[in-house]
Amino acid sequence: MGCQLTGLGVSPGTVVGVVARLGAPPRPPADEVCGTNPAAELERVRSALAMVAGLLEERAATVPGAGGAILRATALMARDPGLDSAVRGLLEQGCPTARALDTAVESFCEALEGAGGYLAERAADLRDVRDRALAHLLDLPTPGIPHPGHPFVLVGRDLSPADTATLDPAEVLGIVTELGGQTSHTAILAKGLGIPAVLCCPGARDLADGEVVIVDGSTGGVMVDPDRAALAEARRLASARAAVRRRIAASASGPGQTADGHPVSLLVNVDGLDGALRAAAADSEGVGLFRTEALFLDRTTAPSVAEQAAAYARVLAAFAPRPVIARTLDAGADKPLAFVEHAREENPALGVRGYRMAASQPDLLDAQLAALARAAGDTGVEVRVMAPMVSVPAEAAAFREAAGRHGLRTAGVMVEVPAAALRAGDLLAEVDFVSIGTNDLAQYTFAADRACGELSDLLDPWQPALLDLVAAVGAAGRALGRPVGVCGEAASDPLLACVLVGLGVTSLSMAAGVLPEVRFALAAHQMRTCAEMARAARAARSAVAARDAARALADPEVLAMVR
Ligand code: PEP
Ligand code: MG
Repeated sequence: MGCQLTGLGVSPGTVVGVVARLGAPPRPPADEVCGTNPAAELERVRSALAMVAGLLEERAATVPGAGGAILRATALMARDPGLDSAVRGLLEQGCPTARALDTAVESFCEALEGAGGYLAERAADLRDVRDRALAHLLDLPTPGIPHPGHPFVLVGRDLSPADTATLDPAEVLGIVTELGGQTSHTAILAKGLGIPAVLCCPGARDLADGEVVIVDGSTGGVMVDPDRAALAEARRLASARAAVRRRIAASASGPGQTADGHPVSLLVNVDGLDGALRAAAADSEGVGLFRTEALFLDRTTAPSVAEQAAAYARVLAAFAPRPVIARTLDAGADKPLAFVEHAREENPALGVRGYRMAASQPDLLDAQLAALARAAGDTGVEVRVMAPMVSVPAEAAAFREAAGRHGLRTAGVMVEVPAAALRAGDLLAEVDFVSIGTNDLAQYTFAADRACGELSDLLDPWQPALLDLVAAVGAAGRALGRPVGVCGEAASDPLLACVLVGLGVTSLSMAAGVLPEVRFALAAHQMRTCAEMARAARAARSAVAARDAARALADPEVLAMVR
């Protein structure tokens, strides 16, 4: 019987498989001598980087959705003039060619890592560009996904976007990496592909090719060299889960409600266009969070009103006649957009991000609202607009006023910071609805970077302090008779979804794939039980105890599904 490793479960499901490691990246040779002609050496580096950029762009054209956008953004890094001049400077100082490229990339990566959050996670993308360019320069095989000839669990330090975007779920049963966080590209894409994944797993570095592992993408557990009993249990769990999912998918449909008929709107989260088209096929009541920034991740110039309107209309048309909550650009911090001006900030997550940008760049918001209004008119779909990162009622009032100027009648704001949760009643006095972004609300409540795998215990959405804030928002919504949604990842946990409803939440928005399970869990509990579970969870002193307390009151069939 082997050992148990623990990481961050970012994409649910249990699999048993054989380890195949990512190929080792090339290193600059220790005995490399410097070239005699720096200009000629610079041309060699340029052509290696251009080759990598071209390859990434080529792949981007064949990969839909978020994967394609990430590949295009990575290609831009390979063509960065700043990188070019850093390499030139080093070559002119007499640095050998491969070492110059390696050193220049490392200094850029350090700067990205120093910025934290989303930017820090882009360092892995840039290192991938370096590895590919080095392999080309040194005439070595390109590092990347192994092809052992049978399905396998992919293990590595981190996966590059180029690798992740082209993963074949029929070949890759599971993913285990040493690095990565909840919002890393690996997490986003693994979830999109439905591949169970455990990231930020330090012990992954010791896993060897051919070892058998059980990967649990829900709990973050990786069991190495399991005994027969553990293997049998993992296989039993995987097939029980698959059977429950099949039964659920076949049985329940239609609007969400508790066992005693309290309606709870079940909505989907939508990122890029391809994801939207896929999500539209799911049995949902509409879109609870349209992350509009996802359409423009690879843009270096601002999209025009006409261009935006056309892009939004395609998403809206896919969901017609269901309503769509479109969030205005959530740029800054973990989601920098190349065409949006960002001043350098010491703490980007606490800086000018989300709706805060409307003060310095009002034209951006106006153009977007105009485009959303035009898309609504063109498609006949009801668009409700929502502002991200709102902290005080004055911001909510200004957003509502801006939306109204464009004829957008329904406006709401996200509750993502504790100030907004504590004074949700004041926000709801200004807007038609609020939606709780539990990902950011957890980050700001616990002062814990949401991308930091090491802090995942603090970021656990079962934390009683987070539930207290949700309860404050729920109570404000009930008192004013206004809708309160949850569109953060918390909504996709079937058991937690019941607790959220017990706290006064009236709609839940999630990845389309998990919606049937959430519908099933709600339908299995009376509103009274949801409220009891909520009370019990809030009375606990830790996230684990809160979850256990809710489990003790939950329907056994639902428990079998959530483990
Ligand atoms: C959230 O913060 O919970 C949320 C839904 O927004 P995002 O994840 O896009 O920041
Ligand atoms: Mg957020």
